[in-house]
Amino acid sequence: MSLLLCGSITLHAQTKKPNIILFLVDDMGWQDCSVPFYKAPTKWNAIYKTPNMERLAAAGVKFTNAYANQNCTPSRISIMTGMNPVNHGVNSWTFEKNISPEENPDMNLKTPQWNINGFCPFDGYENTIYATALPSVLKKAGYTTIHSGKAHFGAYGTPGADPLNLGFDINIGGSAAGQPASYLGIDSFGNRKNNPAKRAVPGLQEFWGKDIFLSEALTQKTLTVLDSVRKNKQPFFLYLAQFAVHTPLQKDKRFIQKYYDAGLDSTEAKYAAMLEGMDKSLGDVMDYLDKNKLSENTVIIFLSDNGGLTDVARGGQPNKHNSPLRSGKTSGYDGGLKVPMIVYFPHLTKAGTICSNNVIVEDMFTTIRQIAGAQNIPVVQKTDGLNLLPLFKGENKYAGRILTWHHPHLMSGRSSDIYPFSAIRINDWKLIYSHTTQKFELYNTAADIGEAHDLFNTNKARAKKMAQQLGAILKKGKAGMPIVKDTGKPVPYPDEIQF
Ligand code: CA
Repeated sequence: MSLLLCGSITLHAQTKKPNIILFLVDDMGWQDCSVPFYKAPTKWNAIYKTPNMERLAAAGVKFTNAYANQNCTPSRISIMTGMNPVNHGVNSWTFEKNISPEENPDMNLKTPQWNINGFCPFDGYENTIYATALPSVLKKAGYTTIHSGKAHFGAYGTPGADPLNLGFDINIGGSAAGQPASYLGIDSFGNRKNNPAKRAVPGLQEFWGKDIFLSEALTQKTLTVLDSVRKNKQPFFLYLAQFAVHTPLQKDKRFIQKYYDAGLDSTEAKYAAMLEGMDKSLGDVMDYLDKNKLSENTVIIFLSDNGGLTDVARGGQPNKHNSPLRSGKTSGYDGGLKVPMIVYFPHLTKAGTICSNNVIVEDMFTTIRQIAGAQNIPVVQKTDGLNLLPLFKGENKYAGRILTWHHPHLMSGRSSDIYPFSAIRINDWKLIYSHTTQKFELYNTAADIGEAHDLFNTNKARAKKMAQQLGAILKKGKAGMPIVKDTGKPVPYPDEIQF
């Protein structure tokens, strides 16, 4: 029997496999929308306007404990491979070949070897994770696979930089770049004559010189492509990864005035308008599905790739943009890891429901593979993600599952909440291990969502057990720990710390 038993409809009974849309937003914090993911609306939910996310949440299920990694490429590789960064080894963002970005030379730590060049579709390429990518699996299952927006799967000049090398049939705008040179059509998205910017968005020439924001151009182009893809009668997988709301924060003129009027500073108004422009893209896609009678056979998964940026490049009060969550992007606190997630699966998800179970980005691979009926198509890697279909249906499953993070990187000039770390979460308990101090912090995030009350000293037995579990997982994955410059030795694994 199909695992996709859903009311009266099964995949066996359907004439066609469902289309699948993964709508991925970049650097969007957990509360950066008008849909509340906390138990009650927060002040951020009142500031930002995302009516189409509200519409999607009303139609589907909202995940209030969805997690990603602390920054871009690790999450994107997890989605594409189903592996946790402990095991895929792409534990920071990729950019130049063989160069680790943002490493602080002043620390008494050195970054360990990591898969600095990102994903590779074949074995043996230096500093990459060789795996079978999600779109190549879906292609074998009969899907047409479309990439639109930000890729950021591999360093410049390496195979993983091109989404077509991951099994996408079509690529709109994706490259090694983790952000666009410009969101503005009048800047041709960075494609200047004679001297294109390194992060210039490839393609989209029809919009160069025009007064259009990148989020809109990507959406229009994507829907045009869908028009032709639909004619071949195959199901489609659309990975629509908006560059928004990553920096550079630029003015989306369509939406910004209301945020000026609300008293936001110039930077925060830009951020809010970019969120609303992203939300319009989601709404346009949903409208397109409705208009073309595809809504009844298309799954939509909405997700962000890491927590909201807070310590650099934002306006407003520094380091408070995700409050009551602590810190933000690149941090091991929940402000860096917790993300908005909504799923609409026709005839499976119940309208307007909430799931509070812990889920994490690598689950997307396993779940989408299942939705596509591709679970038996072989892949070379051992996957870590779980099949979330039972949760989509409202079942309470996977209590006690272990989530892990590993970020042995030395970001310069960031807030004190951003440091190299490994972390483990089980139910509401979270243990963070600082590679810098080689000390632990333990939080009960249900009672203390802001991770303000460290319970390590009063819960040492629990902390010890979690440290042992985390250490075993890191060792099994051969996760690199930073090297202590003074001794030349790696930072101990968490289970090697005596307490
Ligand atoms: Ca990101």
